[in-house]
Amino acid sequence: MNTEVKSFYRVYRPKSFGEVVGQDFITKTLSNQIMAGKIGHAYLFCGTRGTGKTSVAKIMANAVNCENFHDGKVCGKCAWCQSTNKSMDIFEIDAASNNGVDAVRDLIESVKYPPVVGKYKVYIIDEVHMFSGSAFNALLKTLEEPPAHVIFILATTEPHKLLPTVQSRCLRFNFQNVSLSNLEKVIAGVFKKEKLTADAAAITAIAKEGQGSVRDALSFADTVAAYCGNEPITVEAINRVVGGLDAQIFHDLVQQIAAGDVKTVRATVTKIFNSATSTARILKGTLAAIKDAYVAQPTPRLATALRMFANLEMTLKYATDPHGYFETAALVACGA
Ligand SMILES: [Zn+2]
Repeated sequence: MNTEVKSFYRVYRPKSFGEVVGQDFITKTLSNQIMAGKIGHAYLFCGTRGTGKTSVAKIMANAVNCENFHDGKVCGKCAWCQSTNKSMDIFEIDAASNNGVDAVRDLIESVKYPPVVGKYKVYIIDEVHMFSGSAFNALLKTLEEPPAHVIFILATTEPHKLLPTVQSRCLRFNFQNVSLSNLEKVIAGVFKKEKLTADAAAITAIAKEGQGSVRDALSFADTVAAYCGNEPITVEAINRVVGGLDAQIFHDLVQQIAAGDVKTVRATVTKIFNSATSTARILKGTLAAIKDAYVAQPTPRLATALRMFANLEMTLKYATDPHGYFETAALVACGA
């Protein structure tokens, strides 16, 4: 049992291609390319959050620099593998927090210089679709003719937002949502290493919460493990974690929105946000309830609600006041 706060997702991030779950086609192709010495200069990794894009990018950055990459694995012995200065050649840029032209200018400036430790400088750009138009324009020329010692790995959850000119310059890999059985294996593996006891039904219940994302499944596993302490992890315990908020409250909220009942909607939103549930779970529950209601009886108001809440995901992730944003969306959907 952990006493310190550390997230399973960070601690158990895969360190080699073989440890990546559910992306066998991608890891095998990349591994073969590296062993054959046929490495591209710009890659585009697409897929929903928590499917392994950044992990694979980091593994790749090491693999291309290892002097004896063999059998899908780095050697652990060469100058690169032994170096403590890898960060001089591997750069991680989060476009979500860095959407300016300045960041790209710095990048373009640094691209010119050869790598310090390894053979390649690798630039991993997360959420690349968040770059502004002018930032992209600045990047295009470098993407078109990168120096031989440079590799770009662009990762995005929203490839449709990228210019076709960017897409066409990259080797594209689509990361699949991770299957339920693979998520179960990951969770079972982590619990075993953490010496936590959980029955099969509990592991399945946690895996389902992940909805195809290793990150979401493991962060829910974190919450459940913290709640259970030294007790075995069971479905009952998971229900108590989720609990207070069963699916019913979201269905109630949607009915109130459908009826345009502003006052009750406000009260329900407050009740939802007063529970200990995460905003991601709140949004998930709300969207599921709207979809159910819409399938049962499609109305323009429900269509508006669906659109409003579907657009909230990124906003809520970074908002300092998720309650306010969520309430506003609910009121707009009400027609208020
Ligand atoms: Zn090596």
